[in-house]
Amino acid sequence: MWIDGDLKPAAEATVSVFDHGVLYGDGVFEGIRFYGGRVLKLRTHVARLFESARAIRLALPYTPEQLEEATRRTVAKNALSDGYIRLVATRGAGTLGLNPFQCPRPCVYIIAASIQLYPASLYETGLEVVSSSVMRNHPQALSPRIKSLNYLNNILAKIEAIDRGVLEAVMYNPTGHVAECTGDNVFLVRERDGERVLFTPPLSAGALEGITMNLVIRLAQEAGFAVVRENLTRHDLYTAEEFFLTGTAAEVIPVKSIDGRVIGDGSPGPITRKLIAAFRKLIADGVPED
Ligand code: PMP
Repeated sequence: MWIDGDLKPAAEATVSVFDHGVLYGDGVFEGIRFYGGRVLKLRTHVARLFESARAIRLALPYTPEQLEEATRRTVAKNALSDGYIRLVATRGAGTLGLNPFQCPRPCVYIIAASIQLYPASLYETGLEVVSSSVMRNHPQALSPRIKSLNYLNNILAKIEAIDRGVLEAVMYNPTGHVAECTGDNVFLVRERDGERVLFTPPLSAGALEGITMNLVIRLAQEAGFAVVRENLTRHDLYTAEEFFLTGTAAEVIPVKSIDGRVIGDGSPGPITRKLIAAFRKLIADGVPED
């Protein structure tokens, strides 16, 4: 892996116990996939990392180009052709108080490994999800647009999902509208004015602005579907014709039920299947790195 400028075996890469990333979740990160050695949307991920860092007043000691290059080097150094990258920037080691300005230098590291967020069979049959009782962070408390190292909000929802026998939970925002799942954005297909339209929550709903989400919006529009970003309620989920999630680790995965209520006929719908195929074709055709 790459850490603070050097490539090292993972066992030799260490982070201080005084690092505020460890002590307080004070830092930001990106999860990025690579396919055939090419890094999907690398430039966009690095740009989002810089935006998150800026939001928490973390000055990264690298340029975006340097971190893109470091990411490519880390991928090249690993024997994997397809995999998952974790790009992390912590506040760095400091004193035991909260003051981030007493941490002289951020710690930046890049892991290239593999990930399987959900079992492969669920991409054919669909995922069961529940509505979480854990509200998504209020944007005025900690904006969900910051991809910070503080994932406890999502982890609590994940625990609730697992306790209830499923793998994923929909999180609602303080106004009761759909925000996102614990690590994925939400899409629905519903009929409007006689046409099947894709719906996903707006930026103001308080979710991470997903890079996969934006890719899928583009693929859907190219396939001739209208995509509407508007507030969604639990009712919209319960009565959707199709329901799927997007995320770097998840890619595009169908949802077959929510809170035990079956979506459509319980199998992935035609638009979901079309978009999964379009996503796979985009990868097969060359993996855009921009
Ligand atoms: N929401 C959250 C909370 C996430 O952690 C992720 C994964 N990064 C997403 C949405 C999906 O975003 P992306 O497609 O950029 O990976």
